[in-house]
Amino acid sequence: ETLDKGLEKTKTSFFSKLGKAVAGKSKVDDDVLDNLEEVLVSSDVGVDTTLKIIERIEARVSRDKYMGTDELNNILREEISGLLSETNIGDATEFSIPRDKKPYVIMVVGVNGVGKTTTIGKLAYQFKAQGLKVVLGAADTFRAAAIDQLQVWADRVGVPIVKQKMGSDPASVAFDTLTSAVTQNADVVIIDTAGRLHNKVNLMNELSKVKRVMQKVVADTPHDVLLVLDGSTGQNAFEQAKQFTKATEVTSLAVTKLDGTAKGGVVIGISDQFQIPVRYIGVGEDIEDLQVFNKHEFVDSFFS
Ligand code: GDP
Repeated sequence: ETLDKGLEKTKTSFFSKLGKAVAGKSKVDDDVLDNLEEVLVSSDVGVDTTLKIIERIEARVSRDKYMGTDELNNILREEISGLLSETNIGDATEFSIPRDKKPYVIMVVGVNGVGKTTTIGKLAYQFKAQGLKVVLGAADTFRAAAIDQLQVWADRVGVPIVKQKMGSDPASVAFDTLTSAVTQNADVVIIDTAGRLHNKVNLMNELSKVKRVMQKVVADTPHDVLLVLDGSTGQNAFEQAKQFTKATEVTSLAVTKLDGTAKGGVVIGISDQFQIPVRYIGVGEDIEDLQVFNKHEFVDSFFS
């Protein structure tokens, strides 16, 4: 029910707009499709994904000759489910940390303020609850606050953190973290990185250096590059995903702050546009408010 609560604003706004879009119409015609397009775009599904959905519905209308507006809910549900399956989003039942990779190394990227530190803390909490030994690495050395914040989370969860002073080399922190994790026989390492986007070349260089140095300790790391996006920023989240996927190979996504926003449609668009699995969604500020994204649960919750 956390998911239902988390999606509440998005749902309320979406279905109220959808209601207006079909008001007084019994049949899905060009007008209804135009309105529906507006509803999807204004719910932050993104223009490209919206057009894809509209085209598919148009094709169904022309094939079946008639579509009642009362069927629209189910049809949207089917089409959106289809888009989410194509992007191979992990099911809650499917995703767990592979035990043959030890330590399993997750490098977390994203701009400041999106909920990166909070997500790392929540993840550490979940892994620890699963009986896994977790080590955090404070490789966002650009801001003192970032190191302090991560320390607060490490204390709250009760996991070790490796850090250096502000301004030190992020790659050096990452190196120390992995070395320490190997010594401690840890299961999971979560590395925080700086989220500066204004200088893309620097970001790219920094991230590749961090990766290169980590590989000196554990081959083929990081196993996962998790990009954290703030769902409440809608189109900005799209833009950040674009920039980060250019700067480094992003392998999974976390979309945060879905609870405070009506822009939850962004999850649908982002997973469709980037073909990168949305692995986690943030639905609140509490330590337990991070969920493994499950496409079935998401669609069920959205259309229930
Ligand atoms: P960072 O700068 O990216 O590390 O961002 P923080 O982790 O410090 O988070 C910024 C703010 O967003 C904090 O006040 C968090 O409590 C809040 N936050 C993070 N995730 C969520 C979420 O899923 N829902 C809500 N409502 N707030 C969140």
